[in-house]
Amino acid sequence: TYILAIESSCDDTSASVMCNAKVLSNVVANQEVHSKYGGVVPELASRAHQQNIVPVVQQALAQAKITKNDLSAIAFTKGPGLMGSLLVGTSFAKSMALGLNIPLLDVNHMQAHILAHFIDEEGSKKPNFPFICLTISGGHTQIVKVSNYFDMEILGETIDDAVGEAFDKSAKILGLPYPGGPLIDKYAQLGNPKAYSFTKPKVGDLDFSFSGLKTGILYFIQKQQRINPNFIEENLNDICASIQHTIVEILMDKLKNAVKQTGIKEIAIAGGVSANSEIRKRLINAEKHFGWPTYIPKFEYTTDNAAMIGITGYLKYISNMHADINVTAKARLKVTE
Ligand code: ATP
Ligand code: FE
Repeated sequence: TYILAIESSCDDTSASVMCNAKVLSNVVANQEVHSKYGGVVPELASRAHQQNIVPVVQQALAQAKITKNDLSAIAFTKGPGLMGSLLVGTSFAKSMALGLNIPLLDVNHMQAHILAHFIDEEGSKKPNFPFICLTISGGHTQIVKVSNYFDMEILGETIDDAVGEAFDKSAKILGLPYPGGPLIDKYAQLGNPKAYSFTKPKVGDLDFSFSGLKTGILYFIQKQQRINPNFIEENLNDICASIQHTIVEILMDKLKNAVKQTGIKEIAIAGGVSANSEIRKRLINAEKHFGWPTYIPKFEYTTDNAAMIGITGYLKYISNMHADINVTAKARLKVTE
């Protein structure tokens, strides 16, 4: 079974070809246009998707060494995401499925971040049901109980900002370009994580809050800059390491609460922030010290990519969960829908 998958929910255009649960190609075109605006500009994103989608799909097919006539089905991201961006992928997938007369598979982007763990890769282990997934991305921060591929329950989530936003907004305060998460990670490698301390939020056992932390960081930096105008420049590594450490501590505390509450020890992470080197390290340690079987996605399946849409599409295909041709994109969509 060959499935073509298309992901266009935010600012990356991606296409992937799967052979069953194996990835034959996974092409991602990043959109450079947004970095100078300090965030994704929706109108520019959908226009860039329109320009990228045909070459990206062609490249994915070429790398997989198949033609469109070999395809068994087309999978696409239905939501959640930016409406203008989603519509480009949705209409492309629909017309291609219609033209080839093959099934269409609609994929929930948040389920796909989690189900990326089921991609068949040499040396990768798959989580056993039920497992707990900490989904940490640009728009979401959730603790999800995964009982089966399409049987998920949200146990806790952020009441304000997502953890990816906390990284990106902190980076912005430090004058770093968007998206700043990977840059904080980079500078943090050379810094002291205990140099500065920031107050952790007080919210429910399995819930998150990051807006207070962001304000705390902003006030701290403004105060230090008044004393020494070169404060950021001179201490960038230590500041980044301390911010990252605080965020990762919050995430680890919540995972411990989730294990205590549910008795489930199989722990996975998913989403763009699961690319972060400190959370990855802490999870490997947790396997050693707490005996949790932990699952960390391969780096290229953390931030947005079409392979995760492809594996989810494949899991739907083998269960005959085809989409109706009248299916529409949905800007808001829960992981449980
Ligand atoms: P969602 O999936 O919730 O709709 P999204 O698709 O925009 O949001 P992802 O692509 O999953 O988000 O993740 C992007 C986020 O991950 C950005 O906020 C980015 O800064 C963050 N990120 C990526 N790499 C790292 C890293 N190494 N350390 C910290 N954050 C990172
Ligand atoms: Fe995403």
